Amino acid sequence: MILQSKSAVVTGSTSGIGLAIARAFAAEGANIMINGFGKPEDIETARAGIEAEFGVRCLHSPADMTRGEEIAAMIATAEQAFGAVDVLVNNAGIQFVSPIEDFPVEKWDQIIAINLTAAFHAIRAVTPGMKARGWGRIISTASAHSLVASPFKSAYVAAKHGVVGLTKTAALELAPHGVTVNCISPGYVWTPLVENQIPATMASRGLTREQVINDVLLAAQPTKQFVTPEEVAAIAVFLCSPAAKQMTGANLSVDGGWTAA
Ligand code: NAD
Repeated sequence: MILQSKSAVVTGSTSGIGLAIARAFAAEGANIMINGFGKPEDIETARAGIEAEFGVRCLHSPADMTRGEEIAAMIATAEQAFGAVDVLVNNAGIQFVSPIEDFPVEKWDQIIAINLTAAFHAIRAVTPGMKARGWGRIISTASAHSLVASPFKSAYVAAKHGVVGLTKTAALELAPHGVTVNCISPGYVWTPLVENQIPATMASRGLTREQVINDVLLAAQPTKQFVTPEEVAAIAVFLCSPAAKQMTGANLSVDGGWTAA
């Protein structure tokens, strides 16, 4: 088990990709702080399930990723509870689909805050401890939209391109300290985030639900299959393994061939 006696914070892990990463890390022996919103009973089921299934400790932080001080407090709480934060996954993210001229300014600000600035706050908070211990893994869930654009997703595409720049910069700063910093760029993964953008894409492009799934989403992926959360989580686990120790500043695509085109 590659994360035995290590601890991880995974933001946005009450659902989707983040929850799959949290569970995969727990399966490798890590204590986990999950984070995110949802119904209290669903969050408790996920948290208690991780503890029961994998025999690790699992805490939930309700920190709001739009608020820097809550992010810093979440990292401090995890350090206090577990003794260290060895692995940070910046995964929380939201989407909003609209032409630029109609894009609500507050939605732009919220997406940049959650999908980009939160990663800065969290990296800033974990760095002193990782440097002191001479080991750390920082992973961000970027997106195929960190490499290519799609119309009507200006804030998301801008934030995800920004995550790549932040990743490269942090990788250079932390390379001498045993800390690697990478991002994973999935194509379309079937999670609530994708499900929820279907109505707006139907409206902005004048398409049916089936047309959005087949002609917009899967049209981008030559494999014609959605990526699974577990496939993304497996790459995160690999990045924590000894084999990945010289990988830093990388952006790993898992997108069914989307960005090869
Ligand atoms: P999801 O909607 O299933 O999960 C998002 C998580 O973020 C949830 O736990 C939610 O509670 C949390 N969250 C949202 N706002 C938050 C806030 N202000 N503070 C704290 N937590 C907050 O989505 P997902 O598809 O699993 O997405 C996870 C990440 O993967 C995102 O960064 C997303 O951009 C990225 N991604 C998703 C896809 C996809 O197709 N699903 C593709 C590429 C990248």
